[in-house]
Amino acid sequence: MQDKSYLMIPGPTPVPPSVVAAMTAPMFGHRSEDFQAMHKEIIGKLQKLFQTQNEIYVLTSSGTGGMESAVANTVSPGDKVLTLVGGKFGERWSELANQYGAEVIELNYEWGTCVDPQAVQEQLAANPDIKVVFATQNETSTGVTNDIEALGKIVAQTPALFVVDGVSGVGGIEIKVDEWNVDILTTGSQKSLMLPPGLAIQSISDKAWKKIEENKSPRYYFSLLKARKQYPKWNTAYTPAVSLFVGLNAALDMILNEGLDNVYARHKLMRDATRAAIRALGLNLMTDDAYASPVVTSVYAPEGIGADDIRKVLKQEYNITFAGGQAKLKNKILRIAHMGFADKMDIIIAVSGLEMALQKVGYPVELGAGVKAAQQVFLGVLG
Ligand code: PLP
Repeated sequence: MQDKSYLMIPGPTPVPPSVVAAMTAPMFGHRSEDFQAMHKEIIGKLQKLFQTQNEIYVLTSSGTGGMESAVANTVSPGDKVLTLVGGKFGERWSELANQYGAEVIELNYEWGTCVDPQAVQEQLAANPDIKVVFATQNETSTGVTNDIEALGKIVAQTPALFVVDGVSGVGGIEIKVDEWNVDILTTGSQKSLMLPPGLAIQSISDKAWKKIEENKSPRYYFSLLKARKQYPKWNTAYTPAVSLFVGLNAALDMILNEGLDNVYARHKLMRDATRAAIRALGLNLMTDDAYASPVVTSVYAPEGIGADDIRKVLKQEYNITFAGGQAKLKNKILRIAHMGFADKMDIIIAVSGLEMALQKVGYPVELGAGVKAAQQVFLGVLG
């Protein structure tokens, strides 16, 4: 039964029916008053979500386009930049900065662990000419959430900009752009924001605008200066993805109506239940509790069993899709997403399916043990 499926990958994620319905509205012109009014409304809601007074730009692009916009607009050839790399998306910052001719200092940390703010402080002290620090809020490839507040505090004491990839976290993990000194926060539509792929969204601080104005790198589609000219009129430089804007407006209403604190608490609860279930099944989690992601949980496959074999059974037998590992983690881990339009029963389904799939691939587990552990977390009772 194809329509009955359980998509539990860290993007694209399921889109709520009310958001799908909103997006079926008849098309309207992007230079119309209707669009301008909606755009203004969206930015006001995004400012609440981002916790910022900064201008926010909604770009028609995937998440990587937003990252490229951040680099193209702030990095001039020869600029020294610092990238914090603990997974595939941290690596992407280095790759982008290299393409724009930056001198890249890469601070590597073991995949599955978080950035050490102390090490960032030391790099900035040793290299006072660093112009931009690039970080990842939620490293989707490993399931680690970095301490953006601590990092922002450190970078703010220097002339460097602090640019954060919030592609998978924003909408599921707390972010306070102004209080945490984030100069550019860039995110995407298809993860915790519960929309189809196609939008990149970014906030720009005054400190960042100064750098953007002086920047020497070539840009056209992603020129934030061009976008800024249209901003006071609530227009975009080029044709925006009108239907996705309509969807974004509806998705933001859902998030704000639930309340940001409730949204973040729901994600943490799903994380805790998933982790309790994994432990009860005797499997190993990839990350430590201290920095485990509220939106995606990475689990090592049992010794001698390919993670992709488990995923195959889950898909074929139960129509449940987990993500696998990327790059060096291929076939080694399962990534269970619990981001955006996800709640308790999604975790129960995921864990129950996993128990059966493990059984089928020859790793016998006590059926129900993981489900019970998750239920205990949800009910707040001790195991
Ligand atoms: N950054 C993070 C943390 C991500 O999870 C992703 C997507 O998985 C991206 C960037 C790239 O986004 P996209 O695939 O939409 O270009």
